[in-house]
Amino acid sequence: MGNVNAVSREDKLTGIFAHPKCRQHDPGEGHPECPARYDAVLDGIRSCVPEDRVEYVEPQPATDEHVLMCHTREYLTTVKRDMELGFPSLTTGDTDICERSLEAAYMAVGCVVAAVDAVVAGRVANTFCVTRPPGHHATSSRGMGFCIFNNVAIGVRHAQRAHGIGRALVVDWDIHHGNGTQEIFYEDPSVFYFSTHQWPLYPGTGRSDETGRGQGWGFTLNCPFASGSGRTEIIGAFREKLLPAMRKFMPEMVFVSAGFDSRAGDRLGQFTLEDDDFAEMTRIVVAVAAEYCSGRIVSCLEGGYSLDGLASAAGVHVRELAAASVEGCRR
Ligand SMILES: [Zn+2]
Repeated sequence: MGNVNAVSREDKLTGIFAHPKCRQHDPGEGHPECPARYDAVLDGIRSCVPEDRVEYVEPQPATDEHVLMCHTREYLTTVKRDMELGFPSLTTGDTDICERSLEAAYMAVGCVVAAVDAVVAGRVANTFCVTRPPGHHATSSRGMGFCIFNNVAIGVRHAQRAHGIGRALVVDWDIHHGNGTQEIFYEDPSVFYFSTHQWPLYPGTGRSDETGRGQGWGFTLNCPFASGSGRTEIIGAFREKLLPAMRKFMPEMVFVSAGFDSRAGDRLGQFTLEDDDFAEMTRIVVAVAAEYCSGRIVSCLEGGYSLDGLASAAGVHVRELAAASVEGCRR
């Protein structure tokens, strides 16, 4: 790398895209996907990552045009109607809502859209979005699994349509399979979906023989593991399945569905990953992005329901993203 590049990379930080409106989505008393998760993630970042390595950005909300890149008009109409009628949950599935949920959902998508813009423009080295509600269970026509809009999928389409990004990788290490993301890109060879998840578990998809369809055949890579699995299985899959696949796919941008419910002690999952393992998975993703796409990573919060574990795992994840941005300028 020449001097000019080295100098220009020097000031680039990890962008944290977050907005208090994402805190206001409240599925109700005792629900695991609670507003306190938003605070826990930001606290975890503050206590783990040097202040001068991150930059906080409050984005604008996304528009219907963004949402419609991945969701049907009919579904969007259903969501708006359910909200207007004051329903306690979406009529399409198990996503509890309150009067501020739609505002939060547009803002969560807005975080990812703005993060994509910032990474592509080179204003930040890489990004983490504190997205609530989460997104990876939302299919093109159905909100479910605490999700309203598929934040990551919309980010991918925005990168492709607004910025001419071709091939995008989505790495999903949430304990649950991202059925929505898989469905949206199942026949699309421009998006590689890689998921490690507990199986059997909600939502029941993600068998290893689900590998894509038509033109998209071979671009979905599911690695299901039994309850009790941890470092050996999951980091093994990153090294032995993801890395070889990327040598062929060569992504132009990397997205992470960063769910921390795969950490030990989570309320909804039974994997045994520890904070160090999230650091290692982040370093692997960083290495892929450094090799093929100038380090461009947009990582988005998905699950994670034990507040302490969520805070510490999200903290080390962002710490490694921020370390990557420093390493980039020394390389
Ligand atoms: Zn999950």
